Amino acid sequence: MHAVAAISQSALAHNLSIVRKYAPQAKIVSMVKANAYGHHLELAKPLFTADILAVSELSEVQKLRELTQKPILLLSGIFSENDLHEAIQLNCQIVVHDITQLEHLNNCKSPIKVWIKVDTGMYRLGLSNVQLQQSLSQLQNNSNIHIECIMSHFACADEPEHIKNTQQLKYFNQLNTQEFPQSMANSAAILSLRESHFDFVRPGIMLYGVSPFASINQQLLPAMELSAPILSLKSVKAGESVGYGATWQANKDTTIAIVGIGYGDGYPRHAKNGTPVLINNTLCSLAGRVSMDLICVDVGKINAQVGDRAILWGNDKLRVETIAAYSDTIGYELLTGVSARVTFTQHA
Ligand SMILES: *Cc1c(COP(=O)(O)O)cnc(C)c1O
Repeated sequence: MHAVAAISQSALAHNLSIVRKYAPQAKIVSMVKANAYGHHLELAKPLFTADILAVSELSEVQKLRELTQKPILLLSGIFSENDLHEAIQLNCQIVVHDITQLEHLNNCKSPIKVWIKVDTGMYRLGLSNVQLQQSLSQLQNNSNIHIECIMSHFACADEPEHIKNTQQLKYFNQLNTQEFPQSMANSAAILSLRESHFDFVRPGIMLYGVSPFASINQQLLPAMELSAPILSLKSVKAGESVGYGATWQANKDTTIAIVGIGYGDGYPRHAKNGTPVLINNTLCSLAGRVSMDLICVDVGKINAQVGDRAILWGNDKLRVETIAAYSDTIGYELLTGVSARVTFTQHA
């Protein structure tokens, strides 16, 4: 009797096929960082059929390497010669995004594939244009280093009309690195900015069935269904309040279901009164504050029993995008925030 995240293998495979449909000419980098956006690497294997897989940290490369022999890209790159040795041993490709990383590569004696990340206006990771030219000449001096791709990242791709998208794309094109494969597109750019697809696309959130935009995308299928059981039912009289801080009051006599999930499981504490919860195929509303282990749901309009399962997100009728909107966050944060207390299983 506790919270379960059921991961749908067929939804993951379907979402990957949608990426192929949008970017048929490009190779696909499945972004499986943060434990496959919280879905657990070992349950995300359908995504391993992409051309290459990417994670943020060396510790993630180690875990992923135990599951697959596919090419792996290390997004943060290396910060010491030890890191470099480990990356070579794990047979992974590395991103160079900061010039201090070059010194560790200087006397690299084994073959390694390098992606060079350029900052085209996000001012997060990436080399300036001048640093790019310097790095190219330095890296090309070492015959063990193969430059696999020149990459950059959009700051505002989730707002397709934002001027920054075309500015960044223009800057990227003016780098004159067309002799190398190129990569810019995340999920939002895959769906909305064809000219950014280049040679490798880097889908993340859309693989998990979640729209990168404010609106839901019906072509994508949610891969994670989060559910929890009703532990108790309460009759509440009009005027009575429910939960910590007594922030919700019954405006008529009703029944409240106490559901076994809370912020200790990764359900957002900031979910507002009225956030939808799907019980017995009907959308009901959150009543009162989310506590660590429990939430309270007004089930006055349905027939609910102890043991019935409430779906918190990941169903056609209730997507994580909706819960994100009710709790002032984004689907990415909710998916990656499901805690270790929740049992992960393959969806039947
Ligand atoms: C995480 C990440 C992506 C994927 O972004 P989504 O918005 O989830 O598609 C792409 N590129 C880089 C460099 C990333 O770190």
